[in-house]
Parts: sequence; structure tokens; C-alpha cells
Amino acid sequence: MDTKISSKPSAAPVVAKTAEHVEAHDENPWHQAMEQLDRAGKAMKLEPFALERLRHPKRILTVSVPVKMDDGSVKVFEGYRIQHNMDRGPAKGGIRYHPQVSLDEVKALSFWMTMKCAVVNLPYGGAKGGIICDPKKMSKGELERMTRRYTAEISIIIGPDKDIPAPDVNTNEQVMAWIMDTYSMTIGYACPGVVTGKPIEIGGSLGRKEATGRGVFYVTRELAARRGFDLRKAPIIIQGFGNVGSNAANIFAEHGCKVVGISDVTGGLYDPKGLDLHDIMLYREKNESVANYGKAEHVPIDKFLELPCDILVPAAMENAITKSNADKIKAKYIIEGANGPTSNDADRILNAKGVILVPDILANAGGVTVSYFEWVQDMQSLFWSEKEINARLQEIIVGAFTEVYDLHEKEKVDMRTAAFMVGLRRLGKAASIRGMYP
Ligand code: NAD
Repeated sequence: MDTKISSKPSAAPVVAKTAEHVEAHDENPWHQAMEQLDRAGKAMKLEPFALERLRHPKRILTVSVPVKMDDGSVKVFEGYRIQHNMDRGPAKGGIRYHPQVSLDEVKALSFWMTMKCAVVNLPYGGAKGGIICDPKKMSKGELERMTRRYTAEISIIIGPDKDIPAPDVNTNEQVMAWIMDTYSMTIGYACPGVVTGKPIEIGGSLGRKEATGRGVFYVTRELAARRGFDLRKAPIIIQGFGNVGSNAANIFAEHGCKVVGISDVTGGLYDPKGLDLHDIMLYREKNESVANYGKAEHVPIDKFLELPCDILVPAAMENAITKSNADKIKAKYIIEGANGPTSNDADRILNAKGVILVPDILANAGGVTVSYFEWVQDMQSLFWSEKEINARLQEIIVGAFTEVYDLHEKEKVDMRTAAFMVGLRRLGKAASIRGMYP
């Protein structure tokens, strides 16, 4: 995340965006996710039993989170933890702090985690959590108290063998450390395996912070090899300059690629000759955003995705690409660093234009893969070198990409459908082997 946890006092009331609000835009993430499931289920003739199971999250917990604010008042936040599916192992998925968190959004994100873990064949099911809040308007103390109370509320369903949270939008290593500490205090001993994305000092893994961005790079490199283009000559633009976007940008640049555009919530920067990412990172360390960076052209947020480029990496929020801008996108390849950045309507428009899109459940799976490594290391109390972690990550991501790309070619379906088919095959088998209780 790029949000430095600020020590400024809370200034404005917390804004909640309801599920109805999201639905009003006809881009409800849960509806989108279920349409994707139906499309792939139909293409592969998945057993109705398996399909029906996946339409219903296994467990939904809504909690109220009372927090004493710095001004002495008490504010009650609404939070969720959803375990979508646990047929293949414990549930796994991040925790998001954002004003637009809604139950349907968390449901969709938990479902995509189930799919993602199945696509890259990790022994996990899917989960997600979130709190409706605006962390940018909260002090560090308020964030800590909110995180600890939320952890206490969801501690009845999380645990290293049950459900293991991780960072997502606006949550970071510090938030994971508070979760680990709160859970450990409750059970009476240190339990690093309850959460991933922790600081190294308390059982975190080398390479975790960069893992999602690194996975984005690996799938793009594989795509270039399969499509026969030179990645170093393909201009790249990246929306979102948080954990996923900034690490992806740096890793592309380290490999000699040309990142011509980056953006955050305040706006975009563009330089057709390639941005100086090192300089932008230094600038960002001292400033909350890239808004006033002086050495590149500034582009308004609503025009950013339409910039000239070959590769577009949306790495911010859902519904960045919709039917209102899909036609204006110039990229030939889209690599979904974010979860759910492309609406289904936009998918259809892009497919018709011949754009190749590597879907979220494959493109951003590097994060959960190294989270899995972190959990394995915690369980064994035996830690690996960064070289070993990156080598194992590469093997898993390249293997999953190959499986999905081959199926996309063989079945003549888009890559999202192919990725769903790969994941659903594993999920369908697990469900039928386990059978139904009672
Ligand atoms: P983050 O909080 O670190 O960063 C989010 C970034 O998006 C920030 O730079 C923010 O300014 C920017 N942003 C928000 N709204 C924007 C907008 N409308 N236009 C442009 N930029 C905007 O979050 P993150 O962890 O990088 O997550 C980003 C996406 O990647 C989310 O969809 C998340 O679910 C997904 N993801 C994250 C991980 C992970 O390991 N962190 C793993 C897989 C997927």
C-alpha cells in the first residue's frame, strides 16, 4: 500500500458506501463474478453440484467494530470476513480498508481468492475481509485500535489451520503485525502463521512485499514469449502505485522495460520516453502521492487508461475498465494486477477488439503464492533465502501461465475463461472426492 499510516488526527466522518450504491452502477462485483463463473462452468460442462456450491460462500461474518477515536468519541465501523470455500485447504485472502467496501465486494473478492488458489494449485480455499472506513482520515492510533478490535471480533473464525488473512488495499505489514499480536495475545503464545505479509522480524517472508508485482512481471514475460513480441520495446502503463503497481513498475524497469505511465488516486504521470522510476520512488517517499511530481506530463485520472501503450496493468481497484472506456483503450495486452479491474461488458468489448487480457486470478497470484511460502516457513520455523523464494515463485507462476495459455489456445476461449476452467477443474474434483456431509 502507498498509504503511509499517518499520525494526523481524524478530520472528517467515515463515509460508507453501501452495496446498493455499488449496484446502482450496474457493476456489482459479485454479479460480475457469478457471470464469469457461469460462463466458464458452461464452457467446461462443470457438474451443476460443484457450480451451485461455488455460488454460495461457506461462511459470512459481519462484525461491528467500536473504536475510541482520538477526540474521545466512539465510532462503530462495519467489518466483514468471508470464507468462500475451504474444500482444498484453509481459507486465504486479504483484508481491505476502504470507504467503498461492501458485502458484495468482499463476497466477490473471496470468490476470486478461491479461484486464484485453485489456478496456481495452492492448498487453500478463498477468503476476504474488509472494513468500511477511510484510513487516510484516521490517525495511526485509531487504525491500530480498529485493527485490534476487528481481529478480536473475527478471531472466532481465523487461525493458521482455518483462515489466514493478508494485506490488501490500504493495509500493510504494520496492520498484519497488529493482527498477529492481537491473535497471539488471545491464545497465549506467538502465532506467526495466523497472518501473512508480516514484517520479517516476526515471521514474515523475504520477497513477499514484491511478490504480486513480480508475478505480474513473470506472466507478462511469458505472454511476450508466446505472442512473439519484444517486452523491452513495448511501452507499459500502470494504474495504481501502491504495493502491486509500484513493485510491478520497478521490476519491469529492472528488466529493461519501458514504463511510460504510472498513476495513483490523485492522477497520472506520462513520459513517452520512459519514466525515471527511481526518481519517482524517491519523490514518493517524501510525499503522500505523485500529484506534484515535476518531471513528467500530468494526466487526469479519467484519461490515464487511454494513453498510448502496448501493455496496460490496472493495479488499483475494481471496475477501472468498463463499457464507458474499453473502446478507447489502446493497449494490445492487459495484465490485471488488481482484482476485478475489468467489467464483463468491457471484457466483451476488449475481446472483440482482439486485446489479450491475462486475468487477475492468474496475473496477480504471485502475492498469495509467496504468502503460502510465508505460512509454510512459519509452520516449520525454517526460513528460506530470497533467491529460493523467487525461484519457487517463478516456477509456480510460469507453470500456471502455461497451463492457462495452452487451454486458451486449445479451446479457443479467452484467457479469463481458460483460467476459470483450470481452477474449476481442481475445485470440482475436490468437491466430488470429498462428497457431501451428511
Ligand atoms: P494499495 O493500497 O497498496 O495501493 C492501491 C493504489 O491504487 C494506490 O496507489 C492508490 O492511490 C491507487 N488508486 C486507488 N484508486 C485509484 C484510481 N481510481 N485511479 C488510480 N489509482 C487509484 O493496494 P494494493 O495492495 O497495491 O492492491 C491493489 C489491487 O491489487 C487491489 O485490487 C488488490 O485487491 C489487488 N491485489 C493486491 C495484492 C497484494 O499483495 N497487495 C495481491 C493480489 C491482488
